[in-house]
Amino acid sequence: MIRDVLVLGGGSAGFLAALALKVKLPELGVTVVRSKEIGVIGVGEATTVALPRFLHGYLGFDPGDFYRRVETTWKLGIRFLWGRRPHFDYTFGYQLDWKWSNLPRCNGYYCADDFSYVDVPSALMSHDRAFVRLPDGTPHVTINHAYHIENEKFVGWLEAKAEELGVVARDEVVAEVLRDETGVAGLRLATGETCRADLYLDCSGFRSALLGGALGEPYTSFKTTLFNNRAVTGGWARTTEPTRPYTTAESMAAGWCWQIDHLDRINRGYVYSSDFITDEEAEREFRAKNPKVGSTRLIKFVTGRHHRSWVKNVVGIGNAAGFVEPLESTGLAVICDESRLLAELLLECDRTPTPSLIDGYNRIYAREWDNIRDFLGVHFKFNTRYDTPYWRACRETADIGHARAVVDFYQENGPSLYGKSNLLHNNDIFGMEGYLCLLVGQQVPYRARPAPTAQELRLWDGIKAENRVKALTGLTVEESFRAVTAPTFAWNMDIYK
Ligand SMILES: Cc1cc2nc3c(=O)[nH]c(=O)nc-3n(C[C@H](O)[C@H](O)[C@H](O)COP(=O)(O)OP(=O)(O)OC[C@H]3O[C@@H](n4cnc5c(N)ncnc54)[C@H](O)[C@@H]3O)c2cc1C
Repeated sequence: MIRDVLVLGGGSAGFLAALALKVKLPELGVTVVRSKEIGVIGVGEATTVALPRFLHGYLGFDPGDFYRRVETTWKLGIRFLWGRRPHFDYTFGYQLDWKWSNLPRCNGYYCADDFSYVDVPSALMSHDRAFVRLPDGTPHVTINHAYHIENEKFVGWLEAKAEELGVVARDEVVAEVLRDETGVAGLRLATGETCRADLYLDCSGFRSALLGGALGEPYTSFKTTLFNNRAVTGGWARTTEPTRPYTTAESMAAGWCWQIDHLDRINRGYVYSSDFITDEEAEREFRAKNPKVGSTRLIKFVTGRHHRSWVKNVVGIGNAAGFVEPLESTGLAVICDESRLLAELLLECDRTPTPSLIDGYNRIYAREWDNIRDFLGVHFKFNTRYDTPYWRACRETADIGHARAVVDFYQENGPSLYGKSNLLHNNDIFGMEGYLCLLVGQQVPYRARPAPTAQELRLWDGIKAENRVKALTGLTVEESFRAVTAPTFAWNMDIYK
């Protein structure tokens, strides 16, 4: 029976996993060992809806306290400057996985030319509004949002929450990992002390000190799908720019550039492949696009996953287990899923995990990473915006794996919802909505269909006009932030369930 858990690493993975275990299994002893000198990666600023659901739904943490202390703002989706259109929006609402009862076809068929105002979040994005205004003037907070967070503030808050709940956090360097037939036998600290537990969580980031290092679990590279391996990042203090309630993903000559808006700062990062551009060229292109950027930071990474994340008495979570580039901000989403799955598994087996439960855990983990890889592949395979060696190579050679079946179905049938239940896994985090947004958004051609009638187009335009009206009277990010951080703001916690 697992009584004590030792977490190596105090980044977002280490503390989110520790919190999930402590909230759901309070009798467990949970210790986090991390070195403040080694520090955390310090990137990871945009999320998916998985994070608000996990923090406020699964763990039950008060959103008001979170906003006040982490100074979070909102992400309603991603605005892609991608493909032939000036831009398109992939929101957390339902744009294309939807059919109105008074229209004969589902939404995607009406978006061949104009793909805007299709749902309320996309209309809000077009007007830099975070939420629709309720009759009393307060924001109508729905679950169709994720967060923009500053990584270090976030990790600080997680650490404070963990300590409040009885997680022990130690600032130590692990100098050696002791091994035996059970896997890891203990972690020897630089002070000479040895810490032992029944289960070890490897949250040591790209070092993967336990799973990849001590246990030598093999690593599967995602390089045939995802070519990028570096990012140059930088930002500037906001002056007069409006605060955007979305992440921007902008195509670049050898990759793409994010923009993430915080209340007082704008951060950007160029994610590229060093096979196609040098670091100096990437920095030049990044600065030319973003003349206000101050100092920059170069981050190197490898995309892929370990074959298994649970091996003997070690479970890898976060960058220690797997990593894909941040185009869909999936890092924190996967950490939430892994942490929840681990806590639920330990509850299920009364803290005595069986080999078949562990195999199941590893299958779910592998499928989630592979689904993400293939979905990201669709972004690179069909982006026709640039004709550079990088983008030509993406279009010609990027392997989209399991996503091929979804793309083939779409090319034969158009943006139909018919394939939804048989082409995707139940736990695909993007769903048909994600695939259709990316395929329709990039104007990937499909077999010609009869054009919508004038009557259909009138109804369709009416729906979009209603979304636009709701957005125009919505609240800006600053107005929404002031409203939700007021102690009197009434939260509807049901939205997080
Ligand atoms: C360029 C880039 C952009 C990204 N953008 C996003 C994004 O927008 N959204 C998103 O969700 N994710 C993003 N990610 C992923 C993000 O980094 C991770 O989701 C997240 O921060 C988890 O990091 P971690 O906790 O696994 O590792 P880290 O933050 O690196 O933490 C590792 C921990 O291990 C400790 N440690 C390691 N070795 C030792 C040792 N020997 N002794 C003691 N302590 C040790 C360190 O001190 C640290 O506390 C991005 C990643 C990159 C590279």
